Amino acid sequence: MLKIAVRDLQRGPVDTDGEVSPSDPVFAGLDLPLDGPVSVEGQLQATEGDDFLWRGVIRATATIPCRRCLVDVQVRLHREVHVLLSSDSEAADDPSVYPLPEAALQIDLTGVVREELALEVPAFVLCREDCAGLCPTCGADLNAGPCACVRSAEPA
Ligand SMILES: [Zn+2]
Ligand SMILES: [Zn+2]
Repeated sequence: MLKIAVRDLQRGPVDTDGEVSPSDPVFAGLDLPLDGPVSVEGQLQATEGDDFLWRGVIRATATIPCRRCLVDVQVRLHREVHVLLSSDSEAADDPSVYPLPEAALQIDLTGVVREELALEVPAFVLCREDCAGLCPTCGADLNAGPCACVRSAEPA
């Protein structure tokens, strides 16, 4: 369950195991082509200061094009999460704290899953370290060998 009643948390820590469908509206606009459900494990607990501490792991795979040659690369995402959720308006200024509505009756972790997953997406995906990329002139995949542009530029 990723939606946890605050009432249950007042009794003790609650396991937060579940899956979020890639078509869940929470991922709208994320521009992350997920290959399947996002798996979530962890535990949510109330702190002494009426905040909530969530420790967990988020796992997903996504297909992201190589930045150089545009071939699809399957990327495994694995995010260790250790975050505080708080309805305290002062804590809301801390970028590492997730704001909660005041007097929330339920905590929905799917928004946290979205944000934490977004942080884990590599900015620069390569199909391999030494990907040769595409020729800027003819667009040929240079991993398959030199293109005609290189040959014509060589002295005869
Ligand atoms: Zn590549
Ligand atoms: Zn070329």
